[in-house]
Amino acid sequence: MIAGRCLVCGGKLIDHVNSIEVKCEKCNKIARTNIVCENNHYLCDRCAHEEVLSKINKMVPTMTSANPIDIGEELMMKCGISGNSPHVIVTAAFLTAIKNLNGSVTDDEVLEGIFRATQIPGGWCGYYGACGAGIALGTAFSIIKKATPMSDKERSFANEVTSGALKCVAELGGPRCCASSVRRVLSYGVEIAKEELGIEFPKAESDLTDCWTRKFNPDCKGIKCIYNPIHKTDKNLEMA
Ligand SMILES: [Zn+2]
Ligand SMILES: [Zn+2]
Repeated sequence: MIAGRCLVCGGKLIDHVNSIEVKCEKCNKIARTNIVCENNHYLCDRCAHEEVLSKINKMVPTMTSANPIDIGEELMMKCGISGNSPHVIVTAAFLTAIKNLNGSVTDDEVLEGIFRATQIPGGWCGYYGACGAGIALGTAFSIIKKATPMSDKERSFANEVTSGALKCVAELGGPRCCASSVRRVLSYGVEIAKEELGIEFPKAESDLTDCWTRKFNPDCKGIKCIYNPIHKTDKNLEMA
């Protein structure tokens, strides 16, 4: 798996403060970006997530788990992490878990969630102050509540979920780790679903206290990360 590295050459990704004009290595689209690799490679969001997204789309309808965290872990493990795909994983995992739990979310709504989350660009955590995984959880709740820009309480609720999820991501500290954002945001979603909607998911089987993605992430926070095995006894992981 490649995570946090260039999908063209495997080189280190460089996050620039100011955007530059670039050309996608795959589709030749001209764009502006803040993130290129050390060899100046750039892939547009679409080309960066194409392969992972196609795997997610194939796998999601076959999943039977009713726990968002377990679904998120399985999607990251089997489909990989590239471009903005972690955002799609959050929305898809949350909606699929409810679909499998009580059938109140339909297959079409899961697809709607995947469509919407695909529009949330990569790198927003640092450049726009809004982690895409957090927005992706708000997206899932927007779909559950059938919110539109014209809704009243439903729109407020979805925005509150996003703001709570963003706070969780902010508390993780940096540099960014998409896997830890996915885990933290989904754990928060599980709490909110219970508190606000009375939805109780079965206990997660995944052991989040022993992060497997740290081997693939060149920017891993190490012991600063709450999912590092060193924190196995931390209270904040008990709910996950
Ligand atoms: Zn490269
Ligand atoms: Zn492209």
